[in-house]
Amino acid sequence: MTRKPIIAANWKMHKGPADSTAFISAFLPLLDASLSCDIVLAPPFVSLAASASALAGSDQVGLSSQNMHFEEKGAFTGEISSGMLQEIGARYAILGHSERRAIFGEDDALINAKAKRCHEVGLVPIICIGETLEERDGGKIEEVLRRQLEKGLAGLDAGKMAESVIAYEPVWAIGTGRTATPEQAQEAHAFARKVLTELFGTETAEKIRIQYGGSVKPGNTAELINQPDVDGALVGGASLEPESFYGIVKAASDAYQAG
Ligand code: PEP
Repeated sequence: MTRKPIIAANWKMHKGPADSTAFISAFLPLLDASLSCDIVLAPPFVSLAASASALAGSDQVGLSSQNMHFEEKGAFTGEISSGMLQEIGARYAILGHSERRAIFGEDDALINAKAKRCHEVGLVPIICIGETLEERDGGKIEEVLRRQLEKGLAGLDAGKMAESVIAYEPVWAIGTGRTATPEQAQEAHAFARKVLTELFGTETAEKIRIQYGGSVKPGNTAELINQPDVDGALVGGASLEPESFYGIVKAASDAYQAG
């Protein structure tokens, strides 16, 4: 296993500033220097400042937003720019989560504009892709993943892509308790890496970390991380409790160190 795993907590619309601070106060003491794993927390926008304060002094945990606008400023009521995120201490931005696509109508072109902005300013995008159950049952997984990657990553710089993160999240596995099998995850990740190779070349594609997301828990992390193209996890439900999220971080780190 060559790529260091990256485990990210997507808290969605959970945890205001007080709850975020309480999580971090309980989570940080669980970590030690022997962990070989990048750790990212993505609280709601309003909890980023409190989270940054609570994390101060820890270089083991990075902060992410769950979304971002592609413009720097302007008449975009309710939106947040990359500069605002950086000012508050965010290093990552989750883009194109399936809930953003399905509920808020985000499409590949919009996600592409956001990813370009991240690269311009030096934020690391975590770009989500994944098929619905209907698409899987209709034999369209590769078509969907190819479209999301080709359009979502169009025109992006290979050097900056090498530092970027892709999250493969089959929509049918998100919040359902129905995890993809390690074989299903590996198959989709290998296909995504093949498309990334076509788009950016082998050297870059081999560096891009592809997270799996969809009902990841401490107990199923190792078998997923042990797959050659699974380089981490984007975690919703199981990231809401410090011990559970730490269990995922530890399992990923142990699997990486053993591999
Ligand atoms: C997610 O929201 O990205 C996710 C994978 O959620 P869960 O872990 O709850 O399935």
